[in-house]
Amino acid sequence: MLDFNIQTETANFYDPSDEEVRDIEIEIREDPLTGKTSRILSKPLEISEDPDMSDVDKKGFCPFCPENIDDVGARDTKILSGEKLERNEAVLLANVTPYSEHSLVIKLTEEHYLPLDEFREEHFFDGLKLALAYLKKMDLESDISPALIMNYLKPAGSSVIHPHMQMLVSKSSMDYQRRIIESAERFYKEKDENYWHSLLQKEKDGKRWVGKTGDLNWITAYAPRGFEHVKGITLEHFIEFDDQRLKDLSQGIIEVLKGYNDLDRNTFNFSIFIPPLNGKERFATVIDMITRTNLDRFYRADDFAMPKLMDEPYCNRTPEDLAEKMKSRF
Ligand SMILES: [Zn+2]
Repeated sequence: MLDFNIQTETANFYDPSDEEVRDIEIEIREDPLTGKTSRILSKPLEISEDPDMSDVDKKGFCPFCPENIDDVGARDTKILSGEKLERNEAVLLANVTPYSEHSLVIKLTEEHYLPLDEFREEHFFDGLKLALAYLKKMDLESDISPALIMNYLKPAGSSVIHPHMQMLVSKSSMDYQRRIIESAERFYKEKDENYWHSLLQKEKDGKRWVGKTGDLNWITAYAPRGFEHVKGITLEHFIEFDDQRLKDLSQGIIEVLKGYNDLDRNTFNFSIFIPPLNGKERFATVIDMITRTNLDRFYRADDFAMPKLMDEPYCNRTPEDLAEKMKSRF
């Protein structure tokens, strides 16, 4: 059994502009796997209806644009002996700012910039296929958990606008991966069941259910780790994905991005949790997708001291409301 724990607090203040006392409710939810808390505010995030995107047009030098990529795109030497992996528009290269022993970038599109509703399924299919090919070449150690991540546009932390993913393969798991692995192992030991299997049974057709793309299940996160947090889950291990499963994942990503566009959002992050090969029965392949504050001329960072230093995420829409809005895309 999963626990969906929630506490609420009510703040209030006197608003002199209309001489009213307002009550504002804050939900504090616990992630059912890790217990990590998250705050859901009832006040919507303020976003401009007409953001100034001139940053995107001021192109400058781009290492991933077709005229530059062969001259400046760094090549992986550890596994690919200085070769690059390519598939249609996608190119896998070494990251010149590495975060782990194997640190790759995967350029996804010919276009330098795409609005969220113009990404195509094949962009992600080809990129994911290259990531998978790299992992298969490297003879992955069984306790390593690789990660695929994407930062799109400056508010999402990307230094390069041109759409690209990153893959990190480190001997040392990142903090989030470690928490997920330890919590899922504990859950399996205590309940004799895969956590995500239990989660999907509980969430299927419920208030946070979004839909399916093939074998991938899409829900909104009970305790969101950012704005518009959507999760794609399959019990299948990424390393065993066939073309159909890569297509299912790519299609889901595209639908979520279109859903974000429907909500007037223009930037996003995702991370794909790829579990270690040992103990596959205890884990799942999980993609977490969130939006960030919109790119705008004077956009504000959403990572203020509470999420950044107090390690407490927040969002401005309930997961149940988000699921309702996302459903139409699935
Ligand atoms: Zn470019």
